[in-house]
Amino acid sequence: IVRMEKVNKHFGTLHVLKDIDLEVAQGEVVVVIGASGSGKSTLIRCINGLEEFQNGHIDVDSNELTPHGKGGKALQKIRTEVGMVFQQFNLFPHLSVLDNVILAPMKVRGWSRADALETAERLLERVGISDQASKHPNQLSGGQQQRVALARALAMEPRLMLFDEPTSALDPEMIGEVLDAMRELAREGMTMIIVTHEMGFAREVADRVIYIHQGEIAEQAPPEQIFDRPTDERTRSFLARVL
Ligand code: ATP
Ligand code: MG
Repeated sequence: IVRMEKVNKHFGTLHVLKDIDLEVAQGEVVVVIGASGSGKSTLIRCINGLEEFQNGHIDVDSNELTPHGKGGKALQKIRTEVGMVFQQFNLFPHLSVLDNVILAPMKVRGWSRADALETAERLLERVGISDQASKHPNQLSGGQQQRVALARALAMEPRLMLFDEPTSALDPEMIGEVLDAMRELAREGMTMIIVTHEMGFAREVADRVIYIHQGEIAEQAPPEQIFDRPTDERTRSFLARVL
């Protein structure tokens, strides 16, 4: 569902992504790990067109993004098909939980309010916060807000979900509830690309783990191999620092 070929991205003189080749199959769960500043966020932001890149190309569900932005229709299509959950929840503060979830399906997909509400209620139930539907985001805990963000992304019926450190801003006791919701989603077969520092979670849900080092994919393999028998010296030294 995702194919990146020789993607390069520069911020001014900084070469942030170097010849990235990456394929993700439908239903696959890919976890991206790497040091701060290695390019993990930039990589996933390129996939839904939040960042331009300078050469190479990216295909998402048969929509092609070309260098230097200007994706036009393809970009619009990708934005409706790809859901994203950020470290900071980015909920609309002036809207209730329920309104946060129904907004995009009504505006972008043109659903009726009744249809959007029905879906939203089901999703809020699924992430365990149906009792919070009429509250505003600032009345919720971080873990609850992040589950709203997840429900909001799922309301668009995405074909692919991107996560950028979804639990990094959470208090430790709330990390579990968000990871549980993600685990459930993985079990249901959602295609997911997840940037995380939660190595235990990565080991458990990932079909494949990608280690990024200074903008390059240094190693990719199933989690057992990456964590127990990494072949690249850079992966070994990174894991020695974080595990
Ligand atoms: P972290 O784990 O800290 O989130 P990361 O792996 O997600 O790090 P990126 O955010 O992708 O790293 O950043 C990669 C590099 O690009 C870093 O050196 C960063 O300073 C730089 N960078 C990121 N965004 C911009 C920007 N908008 N303008 C200039 N440089 C940027
Ligand atoms: Mg990042």
